[in-house]
Amino acid sequence: MSFLPFALPEIGEEEIHEVVECLRSGWITTGPRAKQFEEDFANYLGGDVEALAVNSATSGLHLALEALGVGSGDEVILPSYTFTSTAEVVRYLGATPVFVDVEESTYNISIPAIKSVLTDRTKVIMPVHFAGLPCDMTAILKLAQEYGSYVVEDAAHAFPTTCNGKLIGTLDSDVTVFSFYANKTMTTAEGGMLVSKRKDLINRAKVMRLHGISRDAFDRYRSEKPAWYYEVIEAGYKYNMADICAAIGIHQLRRIDAFHAKRRQLADVYDKELKGLPLTLPPKVKDGDLHAYHLYPIRLTEDAPISRDDFIQEMSNRKIGCSVHFIPLHRQPVWRDTYKLKKEDFPVADSLFEQEVSIPLYTKMTEEDQKRVLIAIKDILRG
Ligand SMILES: *Cc1c(COP(=O)(O)O)cnc(C)c1O
Repeated sequence: MSFLPFALPEIGEEEIHEVVECLRSGWITTGPRAKQFEEDFANYLGGDVEALAVNSATSGLHLALEALGVGSGDEVILPSYTFTSTAEVVRYLGATPVFVDVEESTYNISIPAIKSVLTDRTKVIMPVHFAGLPCDMTAILKLAQEYGSYVVEDAAHAFPTTCNGKLIGTLDSDVTVFSFYANKTMTTAEGGMLVSKRKDLINRAKVMRLHGISRDAFDRYRSEKPAWYYEVIEAGYKYNMADICAAIGIHQLRRIDAFHAKRRQLADVYDKELKGLPLTLPPKVKDGDLHAYHLYPIRLTEDAPISRDDFIQEMSNRKIGCSVHFIPLHRQPVWRDTYKLKKEDFPVADSLFEQEVSIPLYTKMTEEDQKRVLIAIKDILRG
Protein backbone atom coordinates (compact mmCIF):
# COMPACT_ATOMS: atom_id res chain seq x y z
CA MET A 1 0.00 0.00 0.00
CA SER A 2 1.31 3.46 -0.87
CA PHE A 3 1.88 6.17 1.70
CA LEU A 4 -1.19 8.33 2.33
CA PRO A 5 0.17 11.85 2.83
CA PHE A 6 -1.10 14.27 5.45
CA ALA A 7 -1.96 16.87 2.81
CA LEU A 8 -1.89 17.23 -0.98
CA PRO A 9 -2.82 20.10 -3.28
CA GLU A 10 -5.45 19.45 -5.97
CA ILE A 11 -4.20 20.85 -9.26
CA GLY A 12 -6.46 20.39 -12.29
CA GLU A 13 -5.95 20.63 -16.04
CA GLU A 14 -7.29 24.21 -16.02
CA GLU A 15 -4.51 25.34 -13.68
CA ILE A 16 -1.89 23.51 -15.74
CA HIS A 17 -3.19 24.97 -18.98
CA GLU A 18 -3.26 28.50 -17.54
CA VAL A 19 0.31 28.21 -16.25
CA VAL A 20 1.47 26.99 -19.67
CA GLU A 21 -0.40 29.87 -21.35
CA CYS A 22 1.24 32.27 -18.92
CA LEU A 23 4.68 30.87 -19.70
CA ARG A 24 4.04 31.11 -23.44
CA SER A 25 2.66 34.65 -23.15
CA GLY A 26 6.05 36.15 -22.30
CA TRP A 27 4.61 37.82 -19.15
CA ILE A 28 5.50 35.58 -16.21
CA THR A 29 5.81 37.96 -13.27
CA THR A 30 3.16 40.29 -11.79
CA GLY A 31 0.82 41.41 -14.57
CA PRO A 32 -2.62 40.71 -16.01
CA ARG A 33 -3.15 37.37 -14.26
CA ALA A 34 -2.28 38.73 -10.81
CA LYS A 35 -4.68 41.61 -11.42
CA GLN A 36 -7.46 39.26 -12.52
CA PHE A 37 -6.87 37.01 -9.50
CA GLU A 38 -7.16 40.02 -7.18
CA GLU A 39 -10.41 41.14 -8.80
CA ASP A 40 -11.89 37.64 -8.78
CA PHE A 41 -10.93 37.19 -5.12
CA ALA A 42 -12.44 40.52 -4.06
CA ASN A 43 -15.61 39.66 -6.01
CA TYR A 44 -15.85 36.29 -4.30
CA LEU A 45 -15.74 37.95 -0.90
CA GLY A 46 -18.00 40.84 -1.90
CA GLY A 47 -18.70 43.61 0.59
CA ASP A 48 -16.56 46.47 -0.86
CA VAL A 49 -13.21 44.88 -0.14
CA GLU A 50 -10.06 45.35 -2.17
CA ALA A 51 -7.56 42.53 -2.52
CA LEU A 52 -3.79 42.60 -3.07
CA ALA A 53 -2.00 39.45 -4.17
CA VAL A 54 1.31 38.85 -2.40
CA ASN A 55 3.95 36.13 -2.44
CA SER A 56 2.91 34.69 0.97
CA ALA A 57 0.55 35.28 3.87
CA THR A 58 3.60 36.13 5.95
CA SER A 59 4.38 39.00 3.53
CA GLY A 60 0.74 40.08 3.68
CA LEU A 61 0.74 40.19 7.49
CA HIS A 62 3.98 42.17 7.42
CA LEU A 63 2.51 44.68 4.94
CA ALA A 64 -0.68 44.97 7.03
CA LEU A 65 1.21 45.86 10.20
CA GLU A 66 3.52 48.22 8.33
CA ALA A 67 0.57 50.02 6.76
CA LEU A 68 -0.95 50.45 10.23
CA GLY A 69 2.27 52.13 11.38
CA VAL A 70 3.32 49.40 13.81
CA GLY A 71 6.81 50.08 15.13
CA SER A 72 9.10 50.07 18.10
CA GLY A 73 7.25 50.45 21.42
CA ASP A 74 4.02 49.04 20.03
CA GLU A 75 2.47 45.80 21.25
CA VAL A 76 0.61 43.27 19.12
CA ILE A 77 -1.58 40.66 20.84
CA LEU A 78 -1.68 37.20 19.27
CA PRO A 79 -2.35 33.60 20.34
CA SER A 80 0.55 31.33 21.29
CA TYR A 81 -1.27 28.56 19.45
CA THR A 82 -0.31 29.56 15.90
CA PHE A 83 2.43 29.34 13.30
CA THR A 84 5.53 31.45 13.84
CA SER A 85 4.59 33.82 10.97
CA THR A 86 1.98 35.51 13.13
CA ALA A 87 4.67 36.61 15.60
CA GLU A 88 7.68 37.08 13.33
CA VAL A 89 6.09 39.91 11.34
CA VAL A 90 5.69 41.86 14.57
CA ARG A 91 9.44 41.56 15.15
CA TYR A 92 10.24 42.63 11.57
CA LEU A 93 8.90 46.04 12.58
CA GLY A 94 10.62 46.18 15.97
CA ALA A 95 7.34 45.89 17.87
CA THR A 96 6.60 43.48 20.72
CA PRO A 97 4.45 40.38 20.29
CA VAL A 98 2.25 39.73 23.33
CA PHE A 99 1.38 36.04 23.45
CA VAL A 100 -1.88 34.87 25.02
CA ASP A 101 -3.61 31.56 25.65
CA VAL A 102 -6.49 30.06 23.67
CA GLU A 103 -9.96 28.91 24.73
CA GLU A 104 -10.67 25.29 25.62
CA SER A 105 -13.92 25.33 23.65
CA THR A 106 -12.63 26.65 20.28
CA TYR A 107 -8.78 26.52 20.36
CA ASN A 108 -8.97 30.18 19.29
CA ILE A 109 -7.56 33.23 21.08
CA SER A 110 -9.12 33.73 24.50
CA ILE A 111 -11.13 36.93 24.93
CA PRO A 112 -10.47 37.22 28.71
CA ALA A 113 -6.76 36.67 27.98
CA ILE A 114 -6.79 39.54 25.45
CA LYS A 115 -8.49 41.75 28.05
CA SER A 116 -5.84 40.93 30.62
CA VAL A 117 -2.99 42.24 28.43
CA LEU A 118 -4.67 45.14 26.61
CA THR A 119 -2.94 48.44 27.39
CA ASP A 120 -2.53 51.80 25.70
CA ARG A 121 0.52 50.30 23.97
CA THR A 122 -1.66 47.69 22.21
CA LYS A 123 -1.51 48.75 18.59
CA VAL A 124 -3.03 45.63 17.03
CA ILE A 125 -4.94 42.50 18.00
CA MET A 126 -4.13 39.63 15.64
CA PRO A 127 -6.61 36.74 15.93
CA VAL A 128 -6.01 33.45 14.06
CA HIS A 129 -9.01 31.40 12.93
CA PHE A 130 -7.49 28.09 13.94
CA ALA A 131 -8.21 25.19 11.56
CA GLY A 132 -10.84 27.36 9.84
CA LEU A 133 -13.13 27.93 12.84
CA PRO A 134 -13.98 31.62 13.26
CA CYS A 135 -12.78 33.53 16.34
CA ASP A 136 -15.32 35.53 18.35
CA MET A 137 -14.85 38.55 16.11
CA THR A 138 -17.74 40.49 17.67
CA ALA A 139 -15.93 40.50 21.02
CA ILE A 140 -12.51 41.18 19.46
CA LEU A 141 -13.71 44.11 17.33
CA LYS A 142 -15.53 45.58 20.34
CA LEU A 143 -12.43 45.35 22.54
CA ALA A 144 -10.26 46.88 19.80
CA GLN A 145 -12.65 49.77 19.48
CA GLU A 146 -12.71 50.36 23.25
CA TYR A 147 -8.92 50.47 23.40
CA GLY A 148 -8.30 52.24 20.08
CA SER A 149 -6.44 49.23 18.70
CA TYR A 150 -6.47 47.85 15.18
CA VAL A 151 -7.45 44.32 14.15
CA VAL A 152 -5.50 42.25 11.61
CA GLU A 153 -6.94 38.77 11.01
CA ASP A 154 -4.53 35.94 10.26
CA ALA A 155 -6.97 34.08 8.03
CA ALA A 156 -4.42 31.59 6.69
CA HIS A 157 -6.83 28.75 7.58
CA ALA A 158 -10.09 30.59 6.99
CA PHE A 159 -11.08 30.47 3.34
CA PRO A 160 -14.01 30.15 3.26
CA THR A 161 -15.09 30.75 6.86
CA THR A 162 -18.00 32.85 8.08
CA CYS A 163 -18.59 34.64 11.36
CA ASN A 164 -22.24 35.50 12.09
CA GLY A 165 -23.02 34.78 8.46
CA LYS A 166 -20.34 37.05 7.00
CA LEU A 167 -17.28 35.77 5.17
CA ILE A 168 -13.97 36.30 6.93
CA GLY A 169 -12.36 39.08 4.91
CA THR A 170 -15.53 41.21 4.91
CA LEU A 171 -15.75 42.03 8.63
CA ASP A 172 -14.86 45.39 10.16
CA SER A 173 -11.23 44.46 10.82
CA ASP A 174 -8.56 46.72 9.37
CA VAL A 175 -6.90 43.99 7.31
CA THR A 176 -7.42 40.26 6.70
CA VAL A 177 -4.72 38.03 5.21
CA PHE A 178 -5.23 34.64 3.53
CA SER A 179 -2.59 32.03 2.64
CA PHE A 180 -2.25 30.02 -0.56
CA TYR A 181 0.63 27.89 0.65
CA ALA A 182 0.64 24.41 -0.91
CA ASN A 183 -1.34 22.72 1.88
CA LYS A 184 -3.97 25.42 2.51
CA THR A 185 -7.62 25.25 1.36
CA MET A 186 -6.58 26.59 -2.04
CA THR A 187 -3.10 27.18 -3.37
CA THR A 188 -0.89 29.19 -5.70
CA ALA A 189 2.16 27.08 -4.65
CA GLU A 190 3.31 30.04 -2.57
CA GLY A 191 1.14 33.10 -2.12
CA GLY A 192 -1.28 35.11 -0.08
CA MET A 193 -3.98 37.76 -0.33
CA LEU A 194 -4.23 40.93 1.70
CA VAL A 195 -7.79 42.19 1.93
CA SER A 196 -9.12 45.45 3.33
CA LYS A 197 -11.96 47.94 3.01
CA ARG A 198 -9.57 50.76 3.93
CA LYS A 199 -8.32 52.52 0.81
CA ASP A 200 -5.43 54.15 2.73
CA LEU A 201 -4.08 50.78 3.89
CA ILE A 202 -4.47 49.22 0.44
CA ASN A 203 -2.58 52.12 -1.13
CA ARG A 204 0.23 51.91 1.38
CA ALA A 205 0.53 48.12 1.05
CA LYS A 206 0.52 48.42 -2.74
CA VAL A 207 3.52 50.74 -2.62
CA MET A 208 5.41 48.71 -0.01
CA ARG A 209 4.67 45.43 -1.81
CA LEU A 210 6.91 46.52 -4.69
CA HIS A 211 10.05 48.29 -3.45
CA GLY A 212 8.25 51.43 -2.26
CA ILE A 213 7.64 52.45 -5.86
CA SER A 214 4.75 54.88 -5.93
CA ARG A 215 2.16 54.26 -8.60
CA ASP A 216 0.57 57.59 -7.81
CA ALA A 217 3.80 59.45 -8.41
CA PHE A 218 4.28 57.37 -11.51
CA ASP A 219 0.79 58.15 -12.81
CA ARG A 220 1.06 61.78 -11.86
CA TYR A 221 4.17 62.28 -13.95
CA ARG A 222 3.45 59.83 -16.69
CA SER A 223 2.06 62.43 -19.02
CA GLU A 224 5.23 64.51 -18.75
CA LYS A 225 7.87 61.85 -18.07
CA PRO A 226 9.03 59.01 -20.29
CA ALA A 227 7.68 55.47 -19.80
CA TRP A 228 10.80 54.29 -17.97
CA TYR A 229 10.31 56.84 -15.19
CA TYR A 230 9.36 55.84 -11.63
CA GLU A 231 9.77 57.16 -8.11
CA VAL A 232 10.84 55.26 -5.01
CA ILE A 233 9.26 56.95 -2.02
CA GLU A 234 10.06 54.36 0.70
CA ALA A 235 12.49 51.51 1.36
CA GLY A 236 9.89 48.91 0.43
CA TYR A 237 9.79 45.13 0.08
CA LYS A 238 9.63 42.57 -2.74
CA TYR A 239 6.32 40.87 -1.97
CA ASN A 240 4.46 40.82 -5.31
CA MET A 241 2.79 37.66 -6.65
CA ALA A 242 4.05 36.32 -10.00
CA ASP A 243 1.50 35.69 -12.77
CA ILE A 244 2.59 32.04 -12.86
CA CYS A 245 1.24 31.71 -9.32
CA ALA A 246 -1.85 33.80 -10.02
CA ALA A 247 -2.57 31.51 -13.01
CA ILE A 248 -2.98 28.65 -10.53
CA GLY A 249 -4.99 30.82 -8.12
CA ILE A 250 -7.54 31.97 -10.71
CA HIS A 251 -8.66 28.38 -11.27
CA GLN A 252 -8.34 27.24 -7.65
CA LEU A 253 -10.69 30.07 -6.70
CA ARG A 254 -13.29 28.90 -9.23
CA ARG A 255 -13.29 25.52 -7.50
CA ILE A 256 -13.25 26.77 -3.90
CA ASP A 257 -16.90 25.99 -3.21
CA ALA A 258 -16.49 22.45 -4.55
CA PHE A 259 -13.28 22.08 -2.53
CA HIS A 260 -15.10 23.28 0.56
CA ALA A 261 -18.02 20.89 0.05
CA LYS A 262 -15.54 18.01 -0.18
CA ARG A 263 -13.71 19.10 2.98
CA ARG A 264 -17.00 19.40 4.84
CA GLN A 265 -18.07 15.96 3.69
CA LEU A 266 -14.79 14.42 4.88
CA ALA A 267 -15.13 16.22 8.22
CA ASP A 268 -18.73 15.00 8.62
CA VAL A 269 -17.62 11.40 8.10
CA TYR A 270 -14.81 11.80 10.64
CA ASP A 271 -17.25 13.39 13.12
CA LYS A 272 -19.59 10.44 12.81
CA GLU A 273 -17.03 7.64 12.69
CA LEU A 274 -14.69 8.85 15.43
CA LYS A 275 -17.39 9.18 18.09
CA GLY A 276 -16.95 6.97 21.12
CA LEU A 277 -13.15 6.72 20.83
CA PRO A 278 -10.81 8.14 23.53
CA LEU A 279 -10.41 11.43 21.70
CA THR A 280 -12.04 14.83 21.58
CA LEU A 281 -13.49 15.81 18.20
CA PRO A 282 -12.62 19.24 16.77
CA PRO A 283 -14.65 22.19 18.09
CA LYS A 284 -17.84 22.77 16.10
CA VAL A 285 -18.78 25.93 14.27
CA LYS A 286 -21.99 27.72 15.32
CA ASP A 287 -25.13 26.75 13.41
CA GLY A 288 -25.39 28.74 10.20
CA ASP A 289 -21.69 29.52 9.96
CA LEU A 290 -19.00 28.00 7.73
CA HIS A 291 -15.90 26.23 9.00
CA ALA A 292 -13.17 26.06 6.32
CA TYR A 293 -11.87 22.69 7.62
CA HIS A 294 -8.30 23.49 6.70
CA LEU A 295 -7.40 21.03 9.47
CA TYR A 296 -9.10 18.23 11.36
CA PRO A 297 -7.43 18.42 14.79
CA ILE A 298 -8.27 15.54 17.11
CA ARG A 299 -7.18 15.50 20.72
CA LEU A 300 -6.30 12.23 22.45
CA THR A 301 -7.87 12.04 25.90
CA GLU A 302 -6.28 10.83 29.15
CA ASP A 303 -7.77 7.36 28.70
CA ALA A 304 -6.25 6.83 25.25
CA PRO A 305 -4.08 3.67 25.37
CA ILE A 306 -1.17 5.44 23.70
CA SER A 307 0.69 8.75 23.81
CA ARG A 308 0.27 11.34 21.08
CA ASP A 309 3.80 10.78 19.79
CA ASP A 310 3.37 7.00 19.66
CA PHE A 311 -0.01 7.42 17.98
CA ILE A 312 1.62 9.39 15.14
CA GLN A 313 4.33 6.73 14.89
CA GLU A 314 1.70 3.98 14.71
CA MET A 315 -0.14 5.88 11.97
CA SER A 316 3.14 6.24 10.11
CA ASN A 317 3.76 2.48 10.49
CA ARG A 318 0.41 2.05 8.73
CA LYS A 319 1.67 4.41 6.01
CA ILE A 320 -0.55 7.34 6.99
CA GLY A 321 0.83 10.85 7.45
CA CYS A 322 -0.29 13.00 10.39
CA SER A 323 0.89 16.33 11.73
CA VAL A 324 0.72 18.49 14.86
CA HIS A 325 -0.81 21.96 14.88
CA PHE A 326 0.81 23.68 16.54
CA ILE A 327 3.95 23.48 18.58
CA PRO A 328 2.86 26.60 20.46
CA LEU A 329 5.07 29.65 20.18
CA HIS A 330 5.70 29.74 23.93
CA ARG A 331 7.65 26.49 23.40
CA GLN A 332 9.71 27.76 20.46
CA PRO A 333 13.21 28.78 21.56
CA VAL A 334 13.22 32.24 20.02
CA TRP A 335 9.89 33.33 21.51
CA ARG A 336 10.29 31.44 24.80
CA ASP A 337 13.76 32.84 25.47
CA THR A 338 13.30 36.38 24.15
CA TYR A 339 10.07 37.00 26.07
CA LYS A 340 10.68 34.60 28.99
CA LEU A 341 7.49 32.71 28.25
CA LYS A 342 6.46 30.01 30.72
CA LYS A 343 4.15 27.18 29.77
CA GLU A 344 2.19 27.68 33.01
CA ASP A 345 0.93 30.92 31.48
CA PHE A 346 -0.55 29.04 28.51
CA PRO A 347 -2.28 26.07 30.17
CA VAL A 348 -4.86 25.48 27.44
CA ALA A 349 -2.49 25.81 24.47
CA ASP A 350 0.13 23.71 26.24
CA SER A 351 -2.12 20.80 27.10
CA LEU A 352 -3.76 20.98 23.66
CA PHE A 353 -0.33 20.71 22.04
CA GLU A 354 0.51 17.60 24.07
CA GLN A 355 -2.64 15.81 22.91
CA GLU A 356 -3.25 17.16 19.41
CA VAL A 357 -2.96 15.25 16.14
CA SER A 358 -4.05 16.62 12.75
CA ILE A 359 -5.28 13.74 10.61
CA PRO A 360 -5.38 13.77 6.78
CA LEU A 361 -8.13 15.95 5.29
CA TYR A 362 -7.77 17.19 1.72
CA THR A 363 -9.88 17.27 -1.41
CA LYS A 364 -7.97 14.56 -3.27
CA MET A 365 -8.74 12.01 -0.53
CA THR A 366 -10.99 9.22 -1.73
CA GLU A 367 -13.60 7.36 0.33
CA GLU A 368 -11.12 4.47 0.41
CA ASP A 369 -8.35 6.75 1.69
CA GLN A 370 -10.59 7.98 4.49
CA LYS A 371 -11.61 4.42 5.38
CA ARG A 372 -7.94 3.52 5.68
CA VAL A 373 -7.41 6.40 8.11
CA LEU A 374 -10.47 5.42 10.15
CA ILE A 375 -9.51 1.75 10.34
CA ALA A 376 -6.01 2.71 11.49
CA ILE A 377 -7.26 5.11 14.18
CA LYS A 378 -9.80 2.60 15.54
CA ASP A 379 -7.22 -0.15 15.50
CA ILE A 380 -4.67 1.95 17.41
CA LEU A 381 -7.06 3.49 19.93
CA ARG A 382 -8.98 0.32 20.72
CA GLY A 383 -5.63 -1.27 21.62
C1 LIG B 1 0.38 28.87 6.85
C2 LIG B 1 0.21 29.91 7.90
C3 LIG B 1 0.77 31.20 7.77
C4 LIG B 1 1.76 31.55 6.72
O1 LIG B 1 1.33 31.40 5.43
P1 LIG B 1 2.41 31.58 4.26
O2 LIG B 1 1.55 31.82 3.05
O3 LIG B 1 3.17 30.29 4.18
O4 LIG B 1 3.27 32.73 4.58
C5 LIG B 1 0.46 32.16 8.71
N1 LIG B 1 -0.33 31.87 9.76
C6 LIG B 1 -0.86 30.65 9.95
C7 LIG B 1 -1.74 30.41 11.13
C8 LIG B 1 -0.58 29.62 9.04
O5 LIG B 1 -1.06 28.39 9.25
